[in-house]
Amino acid sequence: MDKKRLPFILILLTLFWLSCSPSSDAVEGTAAQSGIVDLRILETTDLHASLVNYDYYQTKVDNRIGLVKTATLIHEARNEVKNSLLFDDGDHLKGNPLGEYLARIRGIRKGKIHPVYRAFNYLQYDAIAIGNHEFNYGLDFLKAALKGLNMPVLNANVYSVKKNKPYFTPYVILKRKVVDRSGAQHELKIGVIGFMPTQILKWDKANLEGKVIAKPIVETAKEYVPMIKAEGADIIIALAHTGISSEPYIPDTENAVYYLTKIPEIDAILAGHSHSVFPGPVFKTIANTNMERGQINGKPVVMAGAFGNHLGIIDLQLSITEGKWKVLNSTSLTRPIVDENGKSVVRTNKGLYKLVKPEHEETVDFIKKLGL
Ligand SMILES: [Zn+2]
Repeated sequence: MDKKRLPFILILLTLFWLSCSPSSDAVEGTAAQSGIVDLRILETTDLHASLVNYDYYQTKVDNRIGLVKTATLIHEARNEVKNSLLFDDGDHLKGNPLGEYLARIRGIRKGKIHPVYRAFNYLQYDAIAIGNHEFNYGLDFLKAALKGLNMPVLNANVYSVKKNKPYFTPYVILKRKVVDRSGAQHELKIGVIGFMPTQILKWDKANLEGKVIAKPIVETAKEYVPMIKAEGADIIIALAHTGISSEPYIPDTENAVYYLTKIPEIDAILAGHSHSVFPGPVFKTIANTNMERGQINGKPVVMAGAFGNHLGIIDLQLSITEGKWKVLNSTSLTRPIVDENGKSVVRTNKGLYKLVKPEHEETVDFIKKLGL
């Protein structure tokens, strides 16, 4: 070899090595990230017909409530991530004059959809749970209201007396394309199941007696989750319209979340019913709770207050090895629509407001006519 040219060749080789090495790091980095999926689960719960940021009793704007506000948080939370799902945890039809006006005065017009469910379609919820208050206006009204809803309506523990079968769809397996950290696509099969307190038979005796029965939540969960797994679900999410308590277990507990977290196949729990916020100080005495991560017994749990005042978020980190998905880690949190002084921190979703405005204005007019 020409000795004069050797240094030149060495420089070229060094340059080549330098130019290669960062990209080989990048390749290794990408390999480590492939098969890791960040999945965000969003929750609204106990909306109680609070679609608009309005107090019908005092006939004035109230920015501490209203899905038109939470909707902005939903859009923001979706835009921050590649993969997300949105669920409602029940008790969405009754609880304010708009709900009352539609159920008891005006009714649902033929071919029209209840504004709560119109809002759910607009925001593209992936599935919803039925809560105990959905029975307050009777089963016929609920059936009529649900017409035109574009998503699964879930509950596993309310059974039809006549058919001895679940009254609603007990669970679904949603198939969703998800993108992992390296940008590769995977199909994820997400089992979703709904529950509510058995006390409905007491609270809504007149509407429900002889028509439906309610089975204990935890026993029902234990019966169904192996079936959902056997059908191919990679993960299971519980839409648990029930509260959080670590009191000794009784089958008819109204607050079953703590015991649902102990069922191995359940990966995430959306709680509700008690209008509280989890993670949050109200639950600091609950055993085996990691308030920082929002976990109970190591399982992610979230409860998003009520009336749309919070959005619930569970961020799951999943990994796939040899075709099997596993939850690596999770963080639960809630985002409020107002700050600690009650000042609005989010804009109103104008599209949603426009969509529910007719019934909102009818309700306001009706109240005015009553002279309340
Ligand atoms: Zn409830």
